[in-house]
Amino acid sequence: MNNADFVSFVRKTFDDKEGFIILHDPRFIGNERKYLLDAMDSNFVSSVGEYVNKFEKAIADYTGSKYAVAAVNGTSALHICLLLAGVHADEEVITQPVSFIATCNAITYTGAKPVFVDVNQETMGMCPQKLEEFLKENARKGADGYSYNNKTGKRFAAVVPMHTFGHPCLIEDIVEVCNRYNIPLVEDSAESIGSKYKGKHTGLFGKLSALSFNGNKVITTGGGGMILTQDEDLAKLAKHITTTAKVPHRWEYNHDYTAYNYRLTNLAAALGLGQIEQCEFFIQEKRKLTDKYKEFFKDKDIKFFTEPKDCRSNYWLNAVILKDRKERDEFLTYTNDNGIMTRPIWVLNNKLDMYKGCQCGDLSNAMWLEDRVVNIPSTVIIPDYYKHIKEGKYL
Ligand SMILES: *Cc1c(COP(=O)(O)O)cnc(C)c1O
Repeated sequence: MNNADFVSFVRKTFDDKEGFIILHDPRFIGNERKYLLDAMDSNFVSSVGEYVNKFEKAIADYTGSKYAVAAVNGTSALHICLLLAGVHADEEVITQPVSFIATCNAITYTGAKPVFVDVNQETMGMCPQKLEEFLKENARKGADGYSYNNKTGKRFAAVVPMHTFGHPCLIEDIVEVCNRYNIPLVEDSAESIGSKYKGKHTGLFGKLSALSFNGNKVITTGGGGMILTQDEDLAKLAKHITTTAKVPHRWEYNHDYTAYNYRLTNLAAALGLGQIEQCEFFIQEKRKLTDKYKEFFKDKDIKFFTEPKDCRSNYWLNAVILKDRKERDEFLTYTNDNGIMTRPIWVLNNKLDMYKGCQCGDLSNAMWLEDRVVNIPSTVIIPDYYKHIKEGKYL
């Protein structure tokens, strides 16, 4: 492919002749301003306020989750998920090397160590067969029914797959393996709001899961996250330890747990409520953009990544697969030099200094993807967005 053709295609598609076109910008075209002002005028700006409850309910309704508990960001939501799944210090958590660093950060906060199992090329998420092979080779059942690592003697306290760029991984098969080995499943669904596997929303398969509303995600609260669970007790505990773990009383300050002060603010939740109301529209528009990319790449020698079988992806970040690392680097250089933001997939987390000593299965697919995958601009296209903002259209 001629990289110049790609640059002009992106400029035309985003109707931007000279600006720097970034990967993913938020769009506030609904009730966001109204709710934000209302939250401010209510004087409940902190973590107590009606918008937190409304936003939690809206996320539960949208995803079909029984419970949703807001958190200050996706990383802290994932941290709480892991704690409530029963992960302790000196245990091990199996995850994929292909992820944003937040996954490993959250695992490390618990004092546990990540163990890396490969992804597959069709989903870019954890490969159930590779997980199975790894456990067959490395796990033994303890007297307590849990699975322990043969090499280290430590318990496999959780499995954390991630739905990469919004594409659901083979989550049903992963559930099946986790059940057989009795390892709790925690989904990192940070990137996959609105994405479904066989019609069921991602994040509903695990014991707990985390969403992110960071500024670059499909919907945003500025910074924010959400814990999803189908278990009432876990939902209550999540609320308890994301706040101050205060024992209810009219005035006494009794607390029964070292809690985390991870609650989302009412202001952020007000923004989030406005955003979740737009989420389906955003995904529809994102999928229209994806169709345009599909059409463009149809006759090119670059593979455009499309949603896995039986899935509906939110196409958070569109991705292409280049021929090799050399072509990847040429593509990255040319596009970024010419005002189009493109980014390679993350450096595999097992290669980072902090995780170099961690145990890994065969990571051949992850390594293959690392050499080739590049994200391309994926913002929801709203014609004349900044002009409309100036004119006060969304006030
Ligand atoms: C965005 C993201 C998170 C959470 O990030 P926050 O910025 O803390 O909201 C976690 N995991 C993955 C894979 C992510 O992409």
